[in-house]
Amino acid sequence: MLIRPKPKPNKPRKPTLSPTKIGTYLACRLKYKFTYIDKIARFYYRPKSYHSFGASLHRTLEEFHKEGGAETQSPEQLVEKLHTAWTSQGYASREEEQQRLGAAAELLENYHKEYLVEGVQTLFTEKQLKWDMGEFYLIGRLDRADEHPNGLLEIIDYKSGRMSVAEEEIRNDLAMNIYAYLASKCYPDRHVAATIYCLRSGEKATAEFTDEDLAEIEDGVLAIASDILQTDEDSDIEPEWIPNECPNCDFLRLCARRMQWEVAETPDSGMLSSSERTTRLSR
Ligand code: SF4
Repeated sequence: MLIRPKPKPNKPRKPTLSPTKIGTYLACRLKYKFTYIDKIARFYYRPKSYHSFGASLHRTLEEFHKEGGAETQSPEQLVEKLHTAWTSQGYASREEEQQRLGAAAELLENYHKEYLVEGVQTLFTEKQLKWDMGEFYLIGRLDRADEHPNGLLEIIDYKSGRMSVAEEEIRNDLAMNIYAYLASKCYPDRHVAATIYCLRSGEKATAEFTDEDLAEIEDGVLAIASDILQTDEDSDIEPEWIPNECPNCDFLRLCARRMQWEVAETPDSGMLSSSERTTRLSR
């Protein structure tokens, strides 16, 4: 008789943490659990126009750079790409969507004008970096990375909603800190700088990171990760009203029901409208 070897038990996969996951945990532990442990976000997610707007721009710029950037394509070709990449979800009306589409086209024309800087080369766009931190992998998706003549690696994050930015904000931005850390690990021979590029205004600010800054970022990530990784399906986390998170959270209905928070609902869809969401009468 043929004896079959016992199947090996699957080794548990090493968890991954990203700026979005860490940011969600810092904003609300329960939201983190609902999203990444219970994985119920798809039942509650409602499309938002600002997500669609940002995603359309990111996809357009990714295609634009993949095909050679401003050196090989005209502003008109860039705007054509926008029409292909555009997603309509989440806009309140056709008029609002058209107005946003027009604004996106204008912003991309300006992006094209300002893109070429002598001696600077785009190394990659929309690339995920990953680093083994021992207990977990740290990952982050960079919008763009440019190489300067002096060897500096500039990582660039596009912001589609903001008009201005200051260097200090980059130093205090969780995602930018993690991107800079990841870039320094994955490209150890490079000095790294991080830039936020406000697509609507063309304004930018850049921060450079020293070895001490990067060591501090590593300590911070390891400290928060040890908390996050203790969260599992058995973690019992009570909803707690967080004024700057709950009103716009997709899970508000769920938490409101559990805690008997009184929040208004629209009669037709059962969804909470944005103005009504801010009306929390009592707990
Ligand atoms: S509604 Fe508030 S408490 Fe509930 S998951 Fe969202 S942010 Fe957290």
